Amino acid sequence: MRSEQERETHQRFVRALQHEHLTCPNPGCGGAIHSRDLSQQTDKIKTYETACERCGQKERIAGNEQAMPPWDNASLELMADEHLMHQQPVCPFDDTPVVFISLPNPRRRARYRLCCFYCGRQTEMDWPPAESKR
Ligand SMILES: [Zn+2]
Ligand SMILES: [Zn+2]
Repeated sequence: MRSEQERETHQRFVRALQHEHLTCPNPGCGGAIHSRDLSQQTDKIKTYETACERCGQKERIAGNEQAMPPWDNASLELMADEHLMHQQPVCPFDDTPVVFISLPNPRRRARYRLCCFYCGRQTEMDWPPAESKR
């Protein structure tokens, strides 16, 4: 179970991840918040530092790494479908938007790395994905 505060932090994390507008949560402030991505390219989870331009309050928002259990095939198929339909797939464990990064592939087939920058789960898949064997 997630606490109210964890939910709010997660919401701010998602907004920072998607470069959306953030406002200061301090009562009576409501200033605009700037977020800075502190993560390295190789980090599986992202860390942001946010600062309110009005009251100056700073906060560090980071993902919560948790790689087990990995995504199962059903959720991977769902994420691939959503990506094909130009919808935003989310991680089934934490509702964080999953980022698709295209990878260079020597066999000239498209290949994607799927990343959830909140829990750090990652996987790679060929594209278009193989038909499900049902
Ligand atoms: Zn503020
Ligand atoms: Zn996740």
